[in-house]
Amino acid sequence: MREEETDEERRKRWVEREAKKADEQRPKEGVCSSCGKKVKEGEYIEVKGKILCAECYEHELDSAMDMEDMGAADSCGAG
Ligand SMILES: [Zn+2]
Repeated sequence: MREEETDEERRKRWVEREAKKADEQRPKEGVCSSCGKKVKEGEYIEVKGKILCAECYEHELDSAMDMEDMGAADSCGAG
């Protein structure tokens, strides 16, 4: 009597294999697309496909906030 692999087990194995594959494909090192600094895995943040170091990521957040401010500053004050 042999044990059959259940759908769940097969799926789990597939997920594990895909995760491993994705891990191998993922670069361990990157270059900040903003300042060109070399960054290792865990030291950079990927934003919309771009690699940013922690510093540039903060700048990115700041500028994103500024853009929102500009939109909000559209109110008319003079009466
Ligand atoms: Zn940077």
